[in-house]
Amino acid sequence: MPDIEEYVEEIKDLWDSHWLTNMGAKHKEFQKQLENLLGVEHVALYCNGHLALENILEAFQMEKGGEIITTPFTFASTTHAIIRSGFTPVFCDVNPVDFTIDTDKIESLITDKTVAILPVHVYGNICNVEKIKEIADAHNLKVIYDAAHAFNVTYKGKSVSMYGDAAMFSFHATKVFNTIEGGAVCYHEDSMEQRLKDLKNFGIHGPEEVAYVGGNAKMNEFCAAMGICNLRYLSDEIQKRSVVVARYKEQLSGIDGLYLIPDQKDVVPNYAYFPVVFDKEVFGADRDEVFAKLEENGICARKYFYPTTNAFDCYKDRFDPNDTPVALDVSLRVLTLPLYADLDLAIVDKICEIIKSLNGGR
Ligand SMILES: *Cc1c(COP(=O)(O)O)cnc(C)c1O
Repeated sequence: MPDIEEYVEEIKDLWDSHWLTNMGAKHKEFQKQLENLLGVEHVALYCNGHLALENILEAFQMEKGGEIITTPFTFASTTHAIIRSGFTPVFCDVNPVDFTIDTDKIESLITDKTVAILPVHVYGNICNVEKIKEIADAHNLKVIYDAAHAFNVTYKGKSVSMYGDAAMFSFHATKVFNTIEGGAVCYHEDSMEQRLKDLKNFGIHGPEEVAYVGGNAKMNEFCAAMGICNLRYLSDEIQKRSVVVARYKEQLSGIDGLYLIPDQKDVVPNYAYFPVVFDKEVFGADRDEVFAKLEENGICARKYFYPTTNAFDCYKDRFDPNDTPVALDVSLRVLTLPLYADLDLAIVDKICEIIKSLNGGR
């Protein structure tokens, strides 16, 4: 969070203008700042990342009922957005290195009903964007990235928002960069601008013309102001996170039965998450034991992502998590450790000590 004085200063204008939402001055300013930062042609702001994703799926005007190839190793939002928008998710497994979509398994899932690929830059790890583009081009499919975890990440010197037909970022309070709640869509086609604008405002195209059955997904001025303030500290935040991650790596690298995701080539990361995968046979304790031990010590780690979305109760009888064995396996063994900019390194050491105390003196 920014200093409260700084935020109050930023929102003072709103008491003069009385313009609280509906694409006001803060909204415009924040959007411009993001376009400059990311170097992308178009940014559309949203009240959250989830509705941003639903709006992209609508805006591309793909055949309803069409199949969208995606992964189940993600937050509920990705799969729900596909289904709530009237499409059918087809689950592709993840690769065992960085848990993004396994590009070797995409083509066998393509049918004449496939309309798009919706991969996830999970934990801020970048999917194999080149291979995905190649496959999508060959089969005339849209590529929409769930980049909720990957804000400010670059690949080969370009923002991740430059890859795919569109990318969604989440600015939820728990993400690397927040606007309290919020999200954005980055896209390249000029023709999408008006459609996204209409869709996030009830489909209202003009005072007397309602063009779409839209919902309400606008970012308000207070959230935009929060974004303007927090953007000033983005590199600071990421730098501090990198220190925490470096300490975790120093403490936990090279321990048998403990898997850490290797650094990705040509990627400047944002240190959004620190996942660790446990192999009970080798390490001596499983994920749930580590989770419980940390909890006993007042430390809240997260089982991200467990269960996989294709194992959710609401999708019982509809999908089978055994179709994506790597995702299923990782979901049972992974834990993301506490990670935020001001996390004291002494606490990182304590967390690592607790974890290491469980490996049975190996
Ligand atoms: C956070 C998140 C979302 C949804 O974003 P909100 O801003 O919370 O709506 C979507 N996908 C993934 C992978 C996320 O982590």
